[in-house]
Formats: sequence, C-alpha cells, structure tokens
Amino acid sequence: MTNKRTLIVANWKMNLNTSQASILLHRLHERIRIHRDIEVVLAPSMLVLQPLSVQIDRRKFRLAAQNAHHKDEGAYTGEVSFTMLQDLVHYAIVGHSERRIYFNESLEDTRDKVAAALRNDITPILCVGETEVEHKNKETRQVLHDQIVTALSNVSSSEIKDIVIAYEPVWAISTFGGKLAKPSDIEPIFEYIRMQIRELYGPKAAKVVRVLYGGSVDDQIARGYLEIEGCDGVLVGGASLNYHKFAGIVDSTYKMLNEGKS
Ligand code: PEP
Repeated sequence: MTNKRTLIVANWKMNLNTSQASILLHRLHERIRIHRDIEVVLAPSMLVLQPLSVQIDRRKFRLAAQNAHHKDEGAYTGEVSFTMLQDLVHYAIVGHSERRIYFNESLEDTRDKVAAALRNDITPILCVGETEVEHKNKETRQVLHDQIVTALSNVSSSEIKDIVIAYEPVWAISTFGGKLAKPSDIEPIFEYIRMQIRELYGPKAAKVVRVLYGGSVDDQIARGYLEIEGCDGVLVGGASLNYHKFAGIVDSTYKMLNEGKS
C-alpha cells in the first residue's frame, strides 16, 4: 500500500428523497470519525446533491455524482452536465454497470464522460467489470482491457493520476445477483488492472492510480477486500443506505489502517 488515502464510496443509487438523505447524512456525521488517511465519499441522487452540499461537513465527507452528460451545455432535455456539477462534487461515478446495462451506455459513452469529468475538474470513478457470462467464459481480462483502454483513450499522462478505477464484477453487484467474490480470486485482477495502467502510462501512474473494489461489500466482509494487495478502497451500494453498515465499513478501514497495513 502506498500513502494514498483509502477511498470509501457510498452509491445511494435512486434511493432517498431530500429529507431521508439529510437524515442519513446526519447519522453518518455523528457516527464517522475523521481519519487523515480515509476519504469518505457520498453519491446521492442528483436532486439531493445541492441540499447535502450545504449540510455536509467537508472535513468528513466529499460528494460524488452518480452520472452526468458528457456535453458541457446545450439542448439535451432532462440532462445535467459535469460543468453544472463542478462546484458541488469532487467525484463522479462513470460507467457503472447499471448505466452500461440498463441505459445501454457504450464504451465510447464512458470514454466521453471520463473526459468531460476531467475537463470540469471532477475526478471520475471509472467502473469496470465483467458480466457473469463473461466471467464463466474466462473473458474477464479481455473485457477489462477493452473497458479501460477505451475509457482512458482521451486521458493524458498528466491527467491519469486523477482517475479512480473501481473493479466491480457485474455478477457480484447486488442488483445483478450479488454473488460474493473471494478476495484471493480477485487479487490477480487488481494486478491486471495496474498492469494495464502501467502499459498505457508507465510504472509511476500504475502506482498512483487508486483502484477500488465493489460488489455486495458490507461491514462484515469489507476488510477482506481492503486487504487485497493494491486495493485502495471500496465502492458500496446496498449497504451504504444503512448507516450502521456503512459506518462499520469505515470503522474496519480505520482499524486496519491503525494496525498499520503496509
Ligand atoms: C454498486 O452498485 O456499485 C455496488 C457495489 O452495489 P452493491 O454494493 O449493492 O453490490
């Protein structure tokens, strides 16, 4: 592990109205302690970003968008651009499997969103991962290669340090079946992702880029993933809606770092 801050991201998806989100944030404020090596990021719905940005203690939390449009402005009814989010969020989730599968977002759509986020000083959390069929057919590496190479094709060597990659096997995400991945089975995938970055941008970039794990992570199993060599944090869906579970994940991280994971 390098001296990168461990990133714990809550993806609230299309859940919680403004008052529910405000209550959850209030509880998390009470429960979560500040740790200089941990960054806790909340990704509420678009509607809730603005009110939460006023309520949030910025020493404890940062905000992320779950999605945005790749154009900065224009006649795109119903859309919100990264430009509009610039003052509200530090991060944006890009290429989430629900976007790829339910909204047919292509490799190129994801590429354009990564570029738009960077252009607007927002750090993309680029989600990559294979489906169950691809997993069974042993196509994981090819799928990740295509997703990573395309998504990063407009990212320069000075921008790469600002990218976060979340490895989320689709079959492990609760939405799509939620089978638990064994940390020992996915450790080589983390190596593979870093190898991709090394091939594209060199060894320094491969060290600096943060790579997260996502897929049915909760407070009971988070540590197993956080201990994977080269894993810099977790992206949490379902469990992030429960403040005990989400705060428990942050607690495990806190404990692990204080025990001195090297
Ligand atoms: C996700 O949607 O990114 C995710 C990891 O969800 P869950 O934790 O519910 O599997």
